[in-house]
Amino acid sequence: MEVVCLDLEGVLVPEIWIGFAERTGIDELRATTRDIPDYDVLMKQRLRLLAEHKLGLPDIQAVIAEMSPMPGAREFIDWLRERFQVVILSDTFYEFSQPLMRQLGFPTLFCHRLIADEKGNVVDYKLRQKDPKRQCVKAFHTLNYRVLAAGDSYNDTTMLSEADLGVLFKAPENVIAEFPQFASVTEYSELQKEFAKGSQRIIAE
Ligand SMILES: [Mg+2]
Repeated sequence: MEVVCLDLEGVLVPEIWIGFAERTGIDELRATTRDIPDYDVLMKQRLRLLAEHKLGLPDIQAVIAEMSPMPGAREFIDWLRERFQVVILSDTFYEFSQPLMRQLGFPTLFCHRLIADEKGNVVDYKLRQKDPKRQCVKAFHTLNYRVLAAGDSYNDTTMLSEADLGVLFKAPENVIAEFPQFASVTEYSELQKEFAKGSQRIIAE
């Protein structure tokens, strides 16, 4: 039994907060954990900016609906789902990623939640658990699944280590250099080959 675990942002869709910042022109929303390492401080700043600009969930989702998955992502996901069980493991929020997940045909997604009040104002956020991507891989192992995984960044590396096969996809140079134990590819066709090779079954092209 095998399951493929994929990161979302940077692998199937562009970075959502950055796309959102570009489309709304709110430059401060471009900040990431590279600028503000404390995730709670970063998220509180994001929520404050959303409130200041009077952006509720429906506005946010309308902006994100203008974004598109990366070229070829939908075809890649469809190819995978015919051959493997596929779960997307992401540090995004359901409410945030929903318009992009629609364009991917709503594959299974494990991520976090935004908390909105009855008027649609985002008032808080809820992380599902600590180190969630790794915990998912561990859980799949207890269910007797082999896990093949791919991601692009630091928040994926514990998932890739825990998995039976871990592949970096479109990762920045510093991540590739720091984690030479993982294969590194940049095209969906190459990732398909890595998963086919890493599978214990015969995978049709
Ligand atoms: Mg990513």
